[in-house]
Amino acid sequence: MRRAVFGGSFDPPHNGHLALCLFARELLGLDRLIVSVSKNPFKGPADASDDNRSAMAGLLTAEINSARPFAELSTWELQQQGPSYTVDLLRHVAELYPDDELVLLVGEDSYRQMPQWRESREIAKLCDIAVFGRSGGELAAASCGETLPPATLFDFDMPVSATEIRRLAAAGQQVSHLVPPSIAAYIASHGLYRV
Ligand code: ATP
Repeated sequence: MRRAVFGGSFDPPHNGHLALCLFARELLGLDRLIVSVSKNPFKGPADASDDNRSAMAGLLTAEINSARPFAELSTWELQQQGPSYTVDLLRHVAELYPDDELVLLVGEDSYRQMPQWRESREIAKLCDIAVFGRSGGELAAASCGETLPPATLFDFDMPVSATEIRRLAAAGQQVSHLVPPSIAAYIASHGLYRV
């Protein structure tokens, strides 16, 4: 089986995440997807709690599965003592599914930070890395620098970020055009991101 791992803070999950997962499913011929909620070491006071991020990532997973079952939520990273690292998550997934081919899905900004990730060269041995553009059109030119692990780059242009959604919500503005309806309802009913 071809199994992908997609990690994030999901603070909140948004239409960019949803589109990326559905796009990756078709483009990469994925059989299964693990949506993993990561620890958020840079958490600010207006950011959502681990429980709220997990609940919203669960709603994202349900949206991804609306056509057919494909994605599952993982809170394994949140349950680890101390910091959690993608390499450890991948080792854990590889142990659970030793016969599967693993693919790590990342946005371009995360990929550029990978040289600073723990054991980033090891990550490339555990899985294929699929990178999705975030700055519209500049992805090819950026291509792989020397220290970046090998990856396949995909054109993707969905200019939405959780930072912008938190900013809009804090200003009392609508975010329903940027997130799936179930997540817009969750943000509103839990009063998230209000400062
Ligand atoms: P923030 O604005 O708080 O940094 P974010 O929008 O980047 O959040 P994350 O949960 O940190 O959301 O992202 C999880 C993964 O999804 C990362 O690999 C990130 O690069 C990728 N990603 C998020 N939004 C997009 C997007 N619009 N296009 C492509 N990749 C994205």
